[in-house]
Amino acid sequence: MKIQFIGATEDVTGSMTLVECAEGKILIDCGLYQGSDDIVKKNLRPLPFNPKEIDAIILTHAHLDHSGHIPRLVKLGFRGHIYATKPTLKLARLIMSDSAQILEKSEHHILSSFYEMEDVMIAISLFKPKKFHEPFELLGMSLTLRPVGHILGASSVFIQGEQKIVFSGDVGRFNDPIIFPPEKCPPTDILVMESTYGGKIRKGDLEEELAAFLKKIKRESQVGIIASFAVARGQLLITLIHKFYQLHPEEKVRFVIDGPMMTEANKVYKEFSHDTKCPEDLKTALEEVEVIDHIREWDSISKKEGPLVVVTSSGMVSGGRIWRYLENWQNDPNACLFLPGYQAAGTAGKALSEGQRTIHDEQGKMIHWSGEVLTSEAFSSHADQSELISWIKDIDKNTQIFINHGEVDSKQMFKDKLTELGYKNVTIATHNHSS
Ligand SMILES: [Zn+2]
Repeated sequence: MKIQFIGATEDVTGSMTLVECAEGKILIDCGLYQGSDDIVKKNLRPLPFNPKEIDAIILTHAHLDHSGHIPRLVKLGFRGHIYATKPTLKLARLIMSDSAQILEKSEHHILSSFYEMEDVMIAISLFKPKKFHEPFELLGMSLTLRPVGHILGASSVFIQGEQKIVFSGDVGRFNDPIIFPPEKCPPTDILVMESTYGGKIRKGDLEEELAAFLKKIKRESQVGIIASFAVARGQLLITLIHKFYQLHPEEKVRFVIDGPMMTEANKVYKEFSHDTKCPEDLKTALEEVEVIDHIREWDSISKKEGPLVVVTSSGMVSGGRIWRYLENWQNDPNACLFLPGYQAAGTAGKALSEGQRTIHDEQGKMIHWSGEVLTSEAFSSHADQSELISWIKDIDKNTQIFINHGEVDSKQMFKDKLTELGYKNVTIATHNHSS
């Protein structure tokens, strides 16, 4: 068996790893590179395989940096099956469709005509849902998906062929308010492991930070705009805000969400709420939240002074409805933008989080933000260094470990930590390297 590291070797996006055995080839994840123009251009590098020769794709979870390259492979002739859990496939359908729409309507995009909606539709026809813990056969190997926290439906992949291989996928935090903690990594010969927070112990408590933000919005009568990813982060925020207002009715202000994909993802989270830690809270929160959809609803809030709390996409201010909020309230020094998540280099979110106040939207329109900007890293859905180490507690110290999906420093710090703990075969995966 041969493993070739194709994506997520230089940073945290573009996840894609090839597994080759005597009977064929499969890909574990098939994601887009996201972030600055230089990173996005990496999507255009030639693939080191013929997509027509790929027998199947195993999708660990729906995030665009794991699923967003699938329609491209379809466009290039891939017709194998795409295996993942049911919620992952439902969310991937939304995420890939949204990506195709963005690429189709922006002719100056670096990835313009990278794929179209018809490629997404073909990809959807190739979906094969699989349940957690139910092994399935592929190319003479047995594969099992195991829950790994992170977001609804997310899994790690356990392959039993000539050797045992585990692909971690994105490992979730152990105390996420709505997603169950990850199941520990089983004993294995080879482990391919993410390291997003491999060099960090996370600071801050997300529920406390959110409560402080909501109280401040009420106290100072502000317009509070929360930039959120439409999938997972959005549903987490809606549930926590709903819960906070139930517990503290005296703090309640008007709370709305705005984002078509967030609304669609809410439906999937509602359908699979029984797979979460708090099915009733989640369902009620998603059913009761006020949605800004039509132009008349937008008109009703756009002249509002506050207090008001809005959750809108996108999480890194890289597109989506957030721009109309930034434009509308840009001259209000009492408006408050909250960025509760990772901001990739090259995004407006990153610029704002670093103190820049003049940014440009996707059409090049200038916005000068006069209000506050707050950031937090407590909302990440990734395990931090100590949680990643707990996750691999049951594996042998001689296991061959390949580290990917992390910034250069994170990968090195995680490797150093594992070596210090006695793991003997730790390698940082490099682009197109085979093992
Ligand atoms: Zn992810």
